[in-house]
Amino acid sequence: MPSLYVHVPFCIQKCDYCAFYSHGLTDYSKELIPLYLEGLEMEMANHQKDAPQGVSSLFIGGGTPTALPLENLDHLLKLIIRNFSFAERAEKTTEGNPGTLTREKLILLREYGINRFSLGVQAFDDNLLRNVGRIHSAQQARDGVQLLRTLGFANINLDLMFGLPGQSMSLWKKSVEEALSYRPEHLSLYGLMLEEGTPLYDRFGEGLDGAESTGAQGLPDDDVQADMQEWAVEHLEKAGYLHYETSNFALPGFECRHNLGYWRGEEYLGLGPGGVSCLKRIRQKNVENVRAYWASLHEGKEPLDEEGKEMLSLEDCMAERMILGLRLREGVSFTKFREDFGVDLRNIYGDVLERYRNRDCFVIRGDRLSLNEKYAFVANGILREFVRGAG
Ligand code: SF4
Repeated sequence: MPSLYVHVPFCIQKCDYCAFYSHGLTDYSKELIPLYLEGLEMEMANHQKDAPQGVSSLFIGGGTPTALPLENLDHLLKLIIRNFSFAERAEKTTEGNPGTLTREKLILLREYGINRFSLGVQAFDDNLLRNVGRIHSAQQARDGVQLLRTLGFANINLDLMFGLPGQSMSLWKKSVEEALSYRPEHLSLYGLMLEEGTPLYDRFGEGLDGAESTGAQGLPDDDVQADMQEWAVEHLEKAGYLHYETSNFALPGFECRHNLGYWRGEEYLGLGPGGVSCLKRIRQKNVENVRAYWASLHEGKEPLDEEGKEMLSLEDCMAERMILGLRLREGVSFTKFREDFGVDLRNIYGDVLERYRNRDCFVIRGDRLSLNEKYAFVANGILREFVRGAG
């Protein structure tokens, strides 16, 4: 059973650091919403066959799904419910941002069975939020959490960011402490990335040597960012959260099942412009353009981007399983690896494991191989070895 992701490519306005595919809702882009929904209707009808037994979990992401006007959100949810069935007690998440949550929209989501909400708080500090072009205030984030709880959302994720311009260690601690005071079931902590083509990249793209990168509104340096991460891990674990993935923390039993599916190498269907699917080792990505997406579907074609479909080699799949699986505290199961690929992972990656043996990088517990906790944040170099290591 695959999971289902539906991409909503609209936000109120673009944040300064964002490289995801989404349109700020100007008068021009508002005209795209009906095309988007019409395209989605055609695409969903085409993909029912990919989930004959239904889907295991749902994630409506973006963009900002809650930026859609109420009647459009209703239409979107109707399309999903009409076209797909769900596993019993399936996790159904919607993302949203403070400043776009209304009582009516949240009640609607609950009525359609959305049982998890992921709120993009980023920081409980107006100055930091302004520094990266977020549309909302810290108070709107507080009000959002409260409204979600009042309306019965019992599984909430809060996203927070560290490494923001002007963010000191003490401001980071304040945001984490405030987030914890609401006892969310899940927390995602992401470091700010400077993505080319974004306003923030233009401001700080020269990295820490750039003129604007120092001073009170500059970027915290790498050491400070590492300290922020380390402090948060310790603090959240003391507060009872499981650090179950590099950037993700959950109260026991509230790990995000949808994302666990990606990290464990399960199949997924991603619909909407920019959506990515991987079924039976075929990966495909939809075009990031609402008009082109709609036009392809209207002509009876798949709305793919210029890369089209890619048949992943066994080698690619194995490397991906290692790279994603080792982000998880639970690591990679030897048995599952053998079942899925017909070979023992030690036969494929024995040389990588051997190379890092003295440095204590990997831990084998029973049927599982995982990364030593102390390497969790510096793991990219080690994980890249798995791309080279196969074959
Ligand atoms: S709200 Fe999220 S998706 Fe939209 S622009 Fe900001 S970071 Fe990007």
